[in-house]
Amino acid sequence: MSMYVVGHKIPDSDSICGAIALAYLKNQIGEPAKASRLGEPSPETQFILDRFGFEAPELKMSYAGEEVYIVDHSELTQAPDDIAEATIVGIVDHHKLGDLTTSTPLECWIRPVGCSNTVIKMMYDFYNVDIPKDIAGIMLCAILSDTVIFKSPTCTTADIRCVEALAEIAGVEDFKALGMEMFKVKSAVGGTAPRDLVMRDFKDFNMNGNLVGIGQLEVVDLSVFDNIKADLEADIAALKAEGNRHTVMLLLTDIMKEGSELLIVSDDAELSKKAYDIATENGRAWLPGVLSRKKQVVPPLQGVFA
Ligand code: MG
Ligand code: MG
Ligand code: MG
Repeated sequence: MSMYVVGHKIPDSDSICGAIALAYLKNQIGEPAKASRLGEPSPETQFILDRFGFEAPELKMSYAGEEVYIVDHSELTQAPDDIAEATIVGIVDHHKLGDLTTSTPLECWIRPVGCSNTVIKMMYDFYNVDIPKDIAGIMLCAILSDTVIFKSPTCTTADIRCVEALAEIAGVEDFKALGMEMFKVKSAVGGTAPRDLVMRDFKDFNMNGNLVGIGQLEVVDLSVFDNIKADLEADIAALKAEGNRHTVMLLLTDIMKEGSELLIVSDDAELSKKAYDIATENGRAWLPGVLSRKKQVVPPLQGVFA
């Protein structure tokens, strides 16, 4: 039986590149595996796939009866809808432990590093499998994306060592320049519908029974939002009204200034004040130094809902 290797819903580069890299490794060690995805690649991910000559993995939403290796999450809200009817054979991740459970033993590769692909590199080393040049390239880009070219507080020395080693294998001389090229692709937000931008990198979290949705757009200059910020605000309000979320947040992250503008619509008008000690004005707040949803935005919120 062949396993599927799949990242989270609304896949990012870590989810897509990680699925490809891990499926290759699994096949090399005699465990048949196929990479798949739970959504369309973002422009950034498409740039990476094109650069190193990969097709996107198969789009597959249903996994009932299949064996699945989970990449880059361990949360039910981010997993395939029918994951309970699948057999989870493994998890490779770098987030807080979520609420996925299994009825059979599984392999877990979870480390507090900046990117799942850093953990996958550790797996290649563990199994002593050579990483092909093109796979090293996409792994390298995924790590540069998740660590915001090493600026994110989630970045560890393991991530930096990994990028250096992968750049060597991939023959990428100036990996920081490649990272900037990637973030410039990510910064091209003009001409895209507000809902597509809000959902581009969006995650739902179950916070003590309250559904909190948090989107993030990482760009090299926040001025790209000048003409569309009001539309984005209207859209997160609409998104909240359509569903059962307690809060919808959108982080506009400036990777050069190293901070995020928070746009928020919430049942609790004091939420930003309570979580970050910064009050919102008309649903907006500047969060200095905040680059990481996982490390700087989610944990204080969970404290509020605890
Ligand atoms: Mg991810
Ligand atoms: Mg990741
Ligand atoms: Mg990210």
